[in-house]
Amino acid sequence: MSKVRILPEILSNKIAAGEVVERPASVIKELIENSLDAGSTVINIEVEKGGKSLIRISDNGSGMSTDDALLAIERYATSKIYNDEDLFSINTLGFRGEALPSIASVSRFTLTTRPHDSDIATEIYIEGGKVKNVTETGAPPGTMISIAQLFFNTPARRKFLKTINTEMGHISDIIASIALGWPKVQFRLTHNQKIVKSWPSTNGSFNRAVDVLGTDLRSSLQQIEFADNYLKIDGWLSSPDMNRSTSNKIYIYINGRYIKDRKLLHALLQGFGSRLMKGRFPIGVLFIEIPYDQLDVNVHPTKHEVRFADHQRVYDAVKSSVSDSLKLSDKNSFLAIAPKHDNNEKTALHSGIKSSWGYVPNKQSQSINEGSNHFEPSNLTAKTKISIDPPLPQNRFPSIDEKEEQSLTSDDQKDLWDKKFFAELTILGQLQNTYILCDSGDGLIIIDQHAAHERIVFEKLKKKNTKVESQALLIPETVELGYKEATALIEITEELSEAGLDIEPFGGNTFTIRSVPSILSDGSISNLIVEIAEALVESGHTKTLDDILEECLILMACHSSIRAKQSLQPTQMRHLLTQLDECETPSFCPHGRPTWVKWSKQSLEKSFRR
Ligand code: ADP
Ligand code: MG
Repeated sequence: MSKVRILPEILSNKIAAGEVVERPASVIKELIENSLDAGSTVINIEVEKGGKSLIRISDNGSGMSTDDALLAIERYATSKIYNDEDLFSINTLGFRGEALPSIASVSRFTLTTRPHDSDIATEIYIEGGKVKNVTETGAPPGTMISIAQLFFNTPARRKFLKTINTEMGHISDIIASIALGWPKVQFRLTHNQKIVKSWPSTNGSFNRAVDVLGTDLRSSLQQIEFADNYLKIDGWLSSPDMNRSTSNKIYIYINGRYIKDRKLLHALLQGFGSRLMKGRFPIGVLFIEIPYDQLDVNVHPTKHEVRFADHQRVYDAVKSSVSDSLKLSDKNSFLAIAPKHDNNEKTALHSGIKSSWGYVPNKQSQSINEGSNHFEPSNLTAKTKISIDPPLPQNRFPSIDEKEEQSLTSDDQKDLWDKKFFAELTILGQLQNTYILCDSGDGLIIIDQHAAHERIVFEKLKKKNTKVESQALLIPETVELGYKEATALIEITEELSEAGLDIEPFGGNTFTIRSVPSILSDGSISNLIVEIAEALVESGHTKTLDDILEECLILMACHSSIRAKQSLQPTQMRHLLTQLDECETPSFCPHGRPTWVKWSKQSLEKSFRR
């Protein structure tokens, strides 16, 4: 007998299931995509035990006749493409004809379906890929698919399923990612008979974006619009000051399909330019529409990746549509603070010693840092926010010899620190409602008011052994989180309460904020809670509780701090400087960015060729 054999159909379906059916969330994704392809306007998703014991999706779409239903469960059976050409011009979410048979091969699968022009529904029951029963039944028009005991016959796969909470997290993420792309369709998710999410049908993408991404975004979303004869882009992105530490709240759709494409993400971020700090990401949704034949979606079974016929054109359009829209909203343009040097001359702004506890103005080293190259005035064009990376140590203090630097301990350096350094500066004024300009006698000091205040608040919150003063909210605020975020937040409510932040679960994924540290007087508390919860999910179990709490304090400091673009009175500026002197690490904000930069007299003279 020959050694090479054709695999039995059930086995090949199981192999295909390995690619498309990884966990309950991936089953749900495939089934919702089918419902959308069938033109449904209402899709209900019911889940029990995180989808491990039951997943049921019902829709009001086209439904299927008995013959079609029997074909649909065969491998490579699809109503969506007929020939080669169709494969390169796909206008549906599905096309591979493998989801239903794959899912049916690893579960107890019931398909109930009724076309709108028929009074009778068909019910097909399949167990582990074997059709056990086909009957006529009564049911509303549309399709309902129930998957009981996913992976009951593939214990190795079942073992890989995570806790109910983790699976529910994936499920709610995937439904959110689809719902954002289909605002006109009503979605409802229930878990163990309780409604988890319910998004009504809405006409505009804005309302759905706010529903899914959070109501606190309502005033921050900016419209993105672009169209030429090749493609169309529209969507909503948060303004740069509303940002996150991960990119996973940026949703990109191509012809209605949620995709993950690093190059597109990169183009989008390039559109933000220097408005966003490195490592920070906006929140929002971008819809790209492109002729179907200019796109290959058959790159991966999960259909999350795509290839463009002309990728450069798409990336350029994304970048410019984002940047044009932001330009419109940037009312104030930033003055170039120095003339452009065409001889590539480099000027140092910092002149100081870095220590383990911060960045110390170097009183000994007054000489100009010739070699320092972290800052180029010619780069400071309109709207640049001086978000420079702190320079490498060797660039910072070329005038101090290595030995001397190493011999300084951080305590020595603390002694070096003149506690009145900031207080003694002469305040010249405020630039762009963002920076405080000061004369230090030997140069110009520019202080980033937000970064500096962030440092001050952070150190106050962090002070050990002093109970953080908290203030009860007159009207408790509520905040609604995603499933994963809510689960993560519950775990640390006790610790947060010690830091002055009292929050209580309020049923579902909603929390009530009862009191906040007094220092967080104003600003959006609910947005802070969202950020804390997202940071918790992001760090998972990789961090210690101390690290996690420190991260929370950083977020709190960031939220309570005076913003860039806020006009300050001279007394407020003076107060800020005095408080900065009291900080342990005054020269860096808690994220590690410099709070101030210096343009020495010598370097100014050099800039003017004096
Ligand atoms: P594909 O979506 O790639 O065509 P599937 O295995 O997911 O493959 O589905 C097979 C076929 O079953 C589809 O092409 C469609 O005709 C039909 N079908 C599946 N789900 C539904 C549904 N919810 N409503 C109507 N028809 C459906
Ligand atoms: Mg499909």
